[in-house]
Amino acid sequence: MSKKVEVKDKILSKNQKIADELRELFARKKILTVNFVSSPGSGKTSILEKILPDLSKKYKICVIEGDLETENDAERIRKAGIDAYQITTGGACHLEAFGIKKALSNFDIDNIDLLVIENVGNLVCPASFDLGEDFKIVVISTPEGEDKPAKYPSMIRVSDVIVINKIDLAEYMEFDVNKCLEYARKINPRLVEFKTSCKTGEGLKELAEFIDKKIIEKNADTGC
Ligand code: MG
Ligand code: ZN
Repeated sequence: MSKKVEVKDKILSKNQKIADELRELFARKKILTVNFVSSPGSGKTSILEKILPDLSKKYKICVIEGDLETENDAERIRKAGIDAYQITTGGACHLEAFGIKKALSNFDIDNIDLLVIENVGNLVCPASFDLGEDFKIVVISTPEGEDKPAKYPSMIRVSDVIVINKIDLAEYMEFDVNKCLEYARKINPRLVEFKTSCKTGEGLKELAEFIDKKIIEKNADTGC
């Protein structure tokens, strides 16, 4: 095994240990945790701005934002009335479980129903770093090209939900939605699919209802 591979394995196994602890903590506290992953600019923050205010009428929600620099996304989420904490990675292209564990100290974790993690925009290494989440939602937007799932199969494989965002632009971008979904299904047939537009509102209610259902399931879970 090369030195480089050894170092990477070591980092990942250290991350996994903390992620396992977090998953156990989230189970005990009955916190549904969702990890949003995508390329930069796919519209993750816009989706959250649209769906979280309604969910927050029923549930206590916290958001952890990950970016290389700036507090911009956390500020946008706060403006939407939701508690948010920004992790600036200072160059690292993904969030790690350790960062999530540290960020949690900013919230009253005895009083959270839904924790949303918006990962750094990157479809590569966030696939390898478990954050203790219940599931990942991968967002692909129509200006990106319909073969994104084929190009980034690892991310598709580890996700449970795929959101095709900016669906209102599909026609202009000559983005074949069905072709994109076919690529994705071939890699991961379990994916739950949503098509959304933050401009027209299409699909956002359905996505919010899905998360709502998952929060209810998490609370019914006995943790055994
Ligand atoms: Mg964002
Ligand atoms: Zn990375």
